[in-house]
Order: sequence, then C-alpha cells, then structure tokens
Amino acid sequence: MQIYNTLTKKKEEFVPIEEGKVRMYVCGPTVYNLIHIGNARPMIVFDTVRRYMEHKGYDVNYVSNFTDVDDKIIKKANEEGVEPSVISERYIAECKKDMADMNVKPATTHPKATEEIGGMLEMIQTLIDKGHAYVAADGTVYFRTRSFKGYGKLSHKNLDDLQGGNRSLLVSGEEQKEDPLDFVLWKPKKEGEPYWESPWCEGRPGWHIECSVMSKKYLGEQIDIHAGGEDLVFPHHENEIAQSEAANGKDFSKYWMHNAFLNIDNKKMSKSLGNFFTVRDISEKYDLQVLRFFMLSAHYRSPLNFSAELMEAAKNGYDRIVTCVQNLSFLIDGATDGDLTADEQKLLKEAEGYEARFDAAMDDDFNTADAISVIFELVKFANTNAGADHSKGFLVKLKEEIVLLADICGLIVEKQAEILEADIEALIAERQAARKEKNFARADEIRDELLAKGIILEDTREGVKWKRA
Ligand code: AMP
Ligand code: ZN
Repeated sequence: MQIYNTLTKKKEEFVPIEEGKVRMYVCGPTVYNLIHIGNARPMIVFDTVRRYMEHKGYDVNYVSNFTDVDDKIIKKANEEGVEPSVISERYIAECKKDMADMNVKPATTHPKATEEIGGMLEMIQTLIDKGHAYVAADGTVYFRTRSFKGYGKLSHKNLDDLQGGNRSLLVSGEEQKEDPLDFVLWKPKKEGEPYWESPWCEGRPGWHIECSVMSKKYLGEQIDIHAGGEDLVFPHHENEIAQSEAANGKDFSKYWMHNAFLNIDNKKMSKSLGNFFTVRDISEKYDLQVLRFFMLSAHYRSPLNFSAELMEAAKNGYDRIVTCVQNLSFLIDGATDGDLTADEQKLLKEAEGYEARFDAAMDDDFNTADAISVIFELVKFANTNAGADHSKGFLVKLKEEIVLLADICGLIVEKQAEILEADIEALIAERQAARKEKNFARADEIRDELLAKGIILEDTREGVKWKRA
C-alpha cells in the first residue's frame, strides 16, 4: 500500500509502527456552526482510508478531536447569552448526526479540547523545562520556534523566508515575543472568556497544542498517520510537529496525509468567504450517500469543484449501483438453490478479478476515482451476466462482491425497503392472534422480523405499542 507523504513529498510503502495496527489522528472541526461540505471532505476521505485499512486486516485506532474552545465559539455564546459549552455541545451533536448520515464511522475516540487541559499544562511545562518555550511578562507562553531544528520540514518552508513574511505580524500586541516566528501555547484570559488555572496565568490554550496532547494521550508518542485538509499543513501541523517532537524527543507521525480543497467557482469553500453549503443543506435535496459518492469520485489530493451538474452526475452514478443491487436481490428472491455450474464458477472467478483491481487502485494512495470505476465495471459485468436462469448461489456471490466493494468506500448500496405503517399494524394483529392461539413461536418470529426492520414492540397495559429504532 502506497501513501503520499506530505513530509517527503513522495508516495511511500505503508509500514506500520506495530504490525497489524494503525494509529491514526485526523484533525476535527471547530464546533460553532453546522459543518459545511468542505469540512465533510476530510471526514469522508479519511473514513474511507480507515475502512480500506480495516478491509486489509489492520486494527485501526482512529482519533479525531472536536475543538470546543475557540474565539468563534465564545463569540457565538456571547451573542446567544449562553455558556460556550452550550454552543459546542449543540454542534458536536449536529456534527455527529451529519457524520452518521454520510456513513462516516464514529472515531475510536473523539476527544474534546476542554477535557484535556491537564495534559496540555503538562506538555507546555515540559517544553518550558527543555528550553523550547518561555513565559512572557503577561503570562502568555510562547513556543521558541528556532529552538526546534526541524521547523519547516512538513511545509518545506525555509525559516528565513518565514521570518520575512511574518515580520509585519509583530505589531498586533505580540511585541513581547522573542521572535516573530514564535507561536502561542497558552494565553491569558480576556473578560467574558472561559479560562483555566495554570502556573503562568489564568487563561486558555492555543489551538495547536490540543492535537499534540490528544494524539499522545490516545495513540502514544509516535503514530502512523496524521491527517487533515491541506490548509492545516502550515502552520497547524508544522507547529504540532515542533511541539510533539520537542517535548517527546521522538519523531511524531510517520505519514502525513492532506486532502485538497473542495472549491466552489474554483475558490475554497469556507465559512469566512460565505461561499458554502452545509451538509444539512445538501441533505434536503440528496441522500447523503450521493454526497459521499461525489467526494470519492475524485482523488483526495485533487481539488474538487462543487457544482449542481457534478452532484447530478454523482446521483446517477450512485443510483446505477443501487439499481444493479436491487435487480440482483429481485433475481435472488426468484432463484432456486443448486450447485454452481462450470460457467458460473468461471464467471465468479472473473468477478473476483474486479476486487483485485479495486484493491490495486486503493493501494495506489487511495485512488477512489479509479476504485469507483472498477465498481462500475463490475456493475456492467453483473448487468450483462446475471439473469433469471442462474442459480441462487451465483447471484448471491455476485451481489456480495458489489456490496463489499461499495462498503469499503462506505457507500450503502443495498437499501432496506422501509416498512409501511399498515404492514406493521397487520403484523402486530397477526402476532396478537398467534398469541391467543398459544402459537408463541410464531408470535416471537413476528417480533424478531419487525426488529430486523428496525421496529421495536412494547407490550403495555393499553396494548402493543411500536416505535422505530
Ligand atoms: P476547520 O473547522 O475549519 O478547522 O476545518 C475542519 C477540517 O475541514 C480541516 O481538516 C480543514 O482542513 C477541512 N476543510 C475546511 N474547509 C475545507 C475545504 N473547502 N475543502 C477541504 N477541506 C476543508
Ligand atoms: Zn490538529
């Protein structure tokens, strides 16, 4: 498996630190609003990386944070006259709902910055003790950038170029820095802001330190993959490397992966430019599986321009797979059991060849665009070769192959038919009748059948009630 590593600017063979295990950290969103579809790109892309790794048999420990202390959260809290935690908890819940609707798996751990302050105080103290950080007169703690020899290695920036570019920044209240390149680890509180006690001042952490600390706590000092959008390469990830490697004395992450932007009219989609659609906006028009399909139809390192036409094309593409699977299900329902014929065995061997090609595309730095083309070829193969004259076993295998490849991409292509209320009521009546006749086996069977369709029955004094799970 080859991964493009931002650190070396090369595709490299993936070799995990510990055999069979992957430790992966993905920078998550700042929670002050509904997420937009630009934020959804890294979620979908790295969830697919995780799913493919799991398919390959790796045990993936996937950590993704929520930044729940930030100027924008505080501003919104003040506007609404509530505590910042009310805002962050609200949007964490909304974000988790969007993730579920996009079929993005929950992380192994979703740490929150405000719950990890202790670890941040500890790492900042270590950096001060080792001479990599200093406390200014007002209690601000800065990282001493030039003390870390590897600074610039991820973004391939030269310190002196950075110095030139940053000199003008020194005017805005940061005169107390030793060097314009130094960045904040801890800052004093301002009126009306949340704060924590610290040895240096009552205050709150800078943004970069949270990821160094959470990554260390949940994954250890050295991890396999650190990922996020390409806007995070500098300064966020560069600063994370400086903090973690200076504090721990070890290389931080082996591979650094960055997705390109989701653009609109060839400009980065962002809250600040106001040119965004939220995931929720899109969900009003499309099943979010279509959004997922759209994201994966381009390679993650290529910029992707959002447009109504491309979303329609994504819808057609996704529907083509769903329809094929539906047809196969229909054929399976009408097929009879029987041994596979020699011809069927030959066809299934051919179908397996598609899986090998799918894997080859994914092994090449997760080329989901090519991997999806292979799924289309398999769909075409199924449409050509599956008919009512085939055995059940053959049709089932063919369907499983398509569902498996789609599932690695996190695409749900087998739709469970939604059970109608009238059918539920009819089954409940049949169950009551069965119970009256003391046919408890049938009654239990009906309950299980409904449960499999997401319907929970409750026997109450007023009769049987049901709800969707
Ligand atoms: P933020 O909440 O802005 O820190 O963003 C959360 C994640 O979304 C980060 O990994 C960003 O790099 C990523 N991101 C934000 N905007 C876009 C975009 N337009 N395209 C792709 N990724 C983005
Ligand atoms: Zn981060």
